[in-house]
Amino acid sequence: MKYDVIIVGAGPGGIFSAYELIKREPSLKIAVFESGNPLEKRRCPIDGDKVKTCINCKTCAIMSGFGGAGAFSDGKYNITNDFGGTLFEHIGKQQAIDLMKYVDEINLKHGGEGTKLYSTAGTKFKKLCIQNKLKLLNASVRHLGTDINYVVLENIYNELKDKIEFHFNTPVENMEILENGYRIFCKEGSFDCEKCIVSVGRSGSKWMESVCKNLNIPTKSNRVDIGVRVELPAVIFSHLTDELYESKIVYRTEKFEDNVRTFCMNPHGIVVNENTNGIVTANGHSYEDPEKQTENTNFALLVAKHFSEPFKDSNGYGESIARLSNMLGGGVIVQRFGDLVRGRRSTEKRVQEGLVTPTLSATPGDLSLVLPKRILDGIIEMIYALDKIAPGTANDDTLLYGVEVKFYNMEVDIDENLESKYKGLYIIGDGSGVTHSLSHASASGVYVARHITG
Ligand SMILES: Cc1cc2nc3c(=O)[nH]c(=O)nc-3n(C[C@H](O)[C@H](O)[C@H](O)COP(=O)(O)OP(=O)(O)OC[C@H]3O[C@@H](n4cnc5c(N)ncnc54)[C@H](O)[C@@H]3O)c2cc1C
Repeated sequence: MKYDVIIVGAGPGGIFSAYELIKREPSLKIAVFESGNPLEKRRCPIDGDKVKTCINCKTCAIMSGFGGAGAFSDGKYNITNDFGGTLFEHIGKQQAIDLMKYVDEINLKHGGEGTKLYSTAGTKFKKLCIQNKLKLLNASVRHLGTDINYVVLENIYNELKDKIEFHFNTPVENMEILENGYRIFCKEGSFDCEKCIVSVGRSGSKWMESVCKNLNIPTKSNRVDIGVRVELPAVIFSHLTDELYESKIVYRTEKFEDNVRTFCMNPHGIVVNENTNGIVTANGHSYEDPEKQTENTNFALLVAKHFSEPFKDSNGYGESIARLSNMLGGGVIVQRFGDLVRGRRSTEKRVQEGLVTPTLSATPGDLSLVLPKRILDGIIEMIYALDKIAPGTANDDTLLYGVEVKFYNMEVDIDENLESKYKGLYIIGDGSGVTHSLSHASASGVYVARHITG
């Protein structure tokens, strides 16, 4: 079977490349191969009742399937070059922003109309942050919410399904270079194509690594972000979240001069488990529907760890720390801030007696047995810094879930067309290591589709 284009992975990168390809050239024969399920069959078995923690499904419904890791995400599309990836280094700042805006328009046309676009432009919080040694990063953020994000994906799928062949539950096992294209191998057999777009995201990071090794595509990897997810009463951050929804704030620690940053803020949201290659970490999202909202806000505090030669396995380092928390807690550990600073573990009783009701059933424990001192000290310093702009952040009952790890895929060597050293083999989205967000991954998909269709 020969296709014009094969897309590996149906996350935002894959979806938006498919969308743009078929829009610009409806005669193209395109197939998408995806490890996970169609959207409607994606269901995480954790119900907080019968199944309380991750049971390591064959493919993780949170990370895989139509919509990729983004399907049950909070649907925050950040339109910015300040964070979310370094796509602009390949395609230029203006083009990156234009493509993110284009993706936003498509989302609005497919069910996202009426959702709010927040912006840091002209906000008074910039001054307040800088007065307290914090830096607020610039961004516009479209908050679709988990529920509307789902509707948008459903509508896009319905538009594509008769024009493009989707192969679900079909992980691509291997790929080969042909004289005039590429051959991919999966359980159904092998398929050939002229052009191949690989968009396998974080869950495909190990696979991507092996492909690059087999095909001799250079890569580099030296960063991992490690930290906790903070959960506190929504009112503590409401002055910021009401105006900005998500504030990306950076703090430079006094002790080690490390950067600690807030990440993925979910007003009135819930904390969730995330399973990457069998390792359970914390994450969070929130719903646009007021009925599904909680009284808590959650966000991550992450410390970026860059390694220099000879150490290369930054993800392995992050995984080992996450494994420690899984080993002690059977999954994610939760600890009250007050217990952490007093040097004692949290217990079921102390968490229950606290004023913050946890939205994730996690094992009460002691994060100081898991996180390296340098990282933990940075997090504690930042909590006290945030307490100055959002009093109450450093309350004893503030909950910390650990660990949250932001794995960065190794960076694949791709050029200004997002093309590898093999012409016609594009590596995009989070799997390329160039993007780390919905908007950047989606924009990279549109970009390669336009390059292919000329
Ligand atoms: C819980 C959660 C919340 C998040 N919230 C936000 C948010 O609010 N805002 C934001 O900007 N980002 C958020 N993110 C990150 C965001 O989801 C990712 O940056 C984005 O999905 C990356 O898109 P992608 O297409 O590159 O990869 P992915 O979305 O990871 O998609 C890759 C797809 O490829 C498939 N795949 C992998 N290997 C293979 C293979 N060998 N063969 C076939 N298919 C394969 C996977 O199953 C997956 O479906 C969140 C992530 C999670 C997990």
